[in-house]
Amino acid sequence: MSIQPDVIVIGAGPAGATASSILAMQGRKVLCYDKSKFPRYHIGESLIPYTWFTLNRIGMLPKLKDAPFTKKYSICFVSQSGKQSQPFFFDSHFDHPATQTWQVLRSEFDGMMRDNAKEKGAEIRHDYTVQRLLVENDRVVGVAGLDDKGQPFEQRAAMVIDASGRDAIAVNQFGWRMKDAPLDRFAIWSYWKGAVRDPGRAGGATTVAYIPDKGWFWYIPLAGDIMSVGVVAKKDYLFRETQDLSEIYHREIKENVWLQEHLAPATQCDEVRITNEYSYRSKHCAMDGLVVAGDAFNFLDPVFSSGMFFALWSGELAADAVHEALGKKDTSAAAFTAYGKRYCKGIEAMRRLVYAFYDPEVNFGHFIRQHPDLSADLTDCIIGHVEKDLTKMFAAFKEFATIPDELEYGGPLIAMKSPK
Ligand SMILES: Cc1cc2nc3c(=O)[nH]c(=O)nc-3n(C[C@H](O)[C@H](O)[C@H](O)COP(=O)(O)OP(=O)(O)OC[C@H]3O[C@@H](n4cnc5c(N)ncnc54)[C@H](O)[C@@H]3O)c2cc1C
Repeated sequence: MSIQPDVIVIGAGPAGATASSILAMQGRKVLCYDKSKFPRYHIGESLIPYTWFTLNRIGMLPKLKDAPFTKKYSICFVSQSGKQSQPFFFDSHFDHPATQTWQVLRSEFDGMMRDNAKEKGAEIRHDYTVQRLLVENDRVVGVAGLDDKGQPFEQRAAMVIDASGRDAIAVNQFGWRMKDAPLDRFAIWSYWKGAVRDPGRAGGATTVAYIPDKGWFWYIPLAGDIMSVGVVAKKDYLFRETQDLSEIYHREIKENVWLQEHLAPATQCDEVRITNEYSYRSKHCAMDGLVVAGDAFNFLDPVFSSGMFFALWSGELAADAVHEALGKKDTSAAAFTAYGKRYCKGIEAMRRLVYAFYDPEVNFGHFIRQHPDLSADLTDCIIGHVEKDLTKMFAAFKEFATIPDELEYGGPLIAMKSPK
């Protein structure tokens, strides 16, 4: 970039690519660094309907319609007793094109998002690793790291957006990580070719299969007859007999009759992968010169496939807030108060629903039968309408389950300036 950037974006994943696209569309000079060369592997394949709005704004929908990704119209649950529910079709609740979404191969989807940001005018530099934020007088003034030749570099800009995913540069540098201990779980997963799929539109569903009292499996149909299959549970349960990942993964599949049947004709076609350090939130969403978006700010247990929605949405909200702050020539932390409030409120809705999912007293089917008037609230939350007022629904859950109160933290770090 020959001109000084207005904004540096760390990470060209879904959050960073969205923020880069929107700021470039608004005429801002954007320089985005990603430590990886694309295409690169990433987990997080199932989109939810409310991703539609951000994807529409950045012009991704025509591209997604032409891509070979599996179309997702519904979700489905397999109960503790192994009984598969009827698929829940999103269009039975919501009359909108968003009710058809996608199961994406992230290496391709993220490449498309990156190319889209480039088309809009953002400059993306791969193989550039940001190692730290440059801070002067309590203000972030730029980044420092290693370039694509392994040489140190520094770059300054009026604003930095940290969208570095679970590497969470700001959170680690400033010690802002707040763990959500009760949601601390491991995920172990791999890919299969030739697994059983339901016919027709239901064949694109994400299926969540319960492991009685212990956790759950995801079963996500990707293009090319590939199935993404993962297990999520507590460490003590998964590692109770062996440390061998492949043994644990196959043992869990063997113990689940529904999965056994569905994977019987299939062949495993990839290594077994693992992640831990599950749910967390950053203490702050911003400080002077910095705003944090996507997984760099927050990670929630993926049972409702909400991560990509939050990455896209927060990338959009952060970009709008940065554009406005630059316009007003006020990039202090306080300029991001509304961003933090709105984003955290959305996260809280989904976080409380995740707690409900894990509560042994909660059965969503029973809940709907007892509270038919709250069925729309439950569905809205699951599809990503997290800005809806869901007070009544959570109050009803609280009558028999442990649902946490909303967390207080997540606002910007407003520095106490000493008087001159
Ligand atoms: C087991 C599991 C299953 C999941 N399933 C789903 C699902 O089904 N649906 C869903 O919506 N979500 C799912 N998620 C969540 C989803 O993967 C994330 O929420 C999403 O990828 C977040 O996007 P992001 O842009 O914030 O971060 P990322 O996608 O991680 O992108 C961050 C980018 O920053 C770059 N980067 C990192 N550090 C640096 C650095 N120091 N310098 C420069 N660049 C850097 C990385 O290379 C990367 O490209 C799942 C997550 C897990 C762990």
